[in-house]
Amino acid sequence: MKILVSNIGSTSLKYRLFDFSDGKSGVLAKGGFERVTDYAATIEECLTQLKDGGHIESENDLAAVGFKTVMAKDISGCVEATDDVLEAMEFYSSVAPAHNPAYIAGIRQFRAKMPDKPMVALFETAFYQHTSTAAQRYAVPQEWYDLGVRRWGFHGASHKFIAERSAELLGRDDVAERARNLYVNAGASPVDGPDLRVISCHMGGSSSITGIRNGVAIGTSMGMSPQSGLPHNNRVGDLDSHALPFIMRKLGITADEAQETMCKQSGLQGVSGVSNDIRDIAEAAEQGNERAKLALELFVHQARHWIGAFHFDLNGADALVFTAGIGENRSPLRESICANLENVGIKLDAEKNNNIRAEEAVISTDDSPVKVMIIPTNEELVVAREVKRFLDNR
Ligand code: ADP
Repeated sequence: MKILVSNIGSTSLKYRLFDFSDGKSGVLAKGGFERVTDYAATIEECLTQLKDGGHIESENDLAAVGFKTVMAKDISGCVEATDDVLEAMEFYSSVAPAHNPAYIAGIRQFRAKMPDKPMVALFETAFYQHTSTAAQRYAVPQEWYDLGVRRWGFHGASHKFIAERSAELLGRDDVAERARNLYVNAGASPVDGPDLRVISCHMGGSSSITGIRNGVAIGTSMGMSPQSGLPHNNRVGDLDSHALPFIMRKLGITADEAQETMCKQSGLQGVSGVSNDIRDIAEAAEQGNERAKLALELFVHQARHWIGAFHFDLNGADALVFTAGIGENRSPLRESICANLENVGIKLDAEKNNNIRAEEAVISTDDSPVKVMIIPTNEELVVAREVKRFLDNR
């Protein structure tokens, strides 16, 4: 069974082809396109690459196309991306402007190209289906909540992968199994079952921190939109709700203009004034750029804030895991985030931390009560597995 997973951004399309035949679960091929203006042509090009590489003879060899979709009204989990689902995604296009419109357009084009093949969506919100109502709720009136003004949580595929893989690496196959089967185990509760407490830090172009008990999320830093929580590359992160009407009135700008600024000129880019890439910001900081230094400090401050929140909620932690572009690669940032935390059981080994890049590793001292780990994430694998399960269960 061959499953194509397509990761669609507003100007990019990445893909991975998985092969699940004969018990396999490996990646056959991967690739991507930047500066995409025409999804139809790009999809054609993607299929051509797969054919030229000898991975498929025609699109008939694909069992389905899977998508790591973000959010939809009243829909989560892993579902076929029918018109109703696309419409439900459209409902939140303004909440996830960098993701929902692109996925809707991309899925439509894939469907036009392959009308007989299932298009299957795994929503990023799925991992948070079992969080408590208190963890989901903002203190807004019921009417707002019913429209979706609540904490949804995102990066679900990534944090789910970390839930599974961290449990495996900690020798807890029972918890890994629980995490793997989470979306079909509707009654999963974070409180019962074997005890394992993990704080998962996905830090990349956008960043979020999730508390995980026994393979099940108990809460996360992202709220109603993927703009919330930690500062992101160019998206704002958490902001007091009164700041928005205040700044609109003071600057005489519209809600759309304010939203554009919050999505494109804020976050690490907005604070540093240098770049949205942490490598450039770190370089500028080393050369004495104060705004760049502040952007890094702000990021670290927010990361510690959320790690602290889940460390408390979980009554401690067995593991603190770093993943994604920044989490896997930026040792100085990991060092700042873990500094002076011996009293809560987090003892980073400076040498291990410095010598390891983007590979699975434990980077805490041998006597650290909390294991600090690097685990490269694999969101596409989570999508592919869930798509396979969806097809198997049909
Ligand atoms: P996205 O969320 O867009 O998939 P990534 O997870 O690749 O992004 O994270 C992008 C961020 O990670 C950037 O700030 C980039 O500087 C940082 N990053 C990615 N790769 C590396 C690397 N090899 N070394 C240092 N920083 C990296």
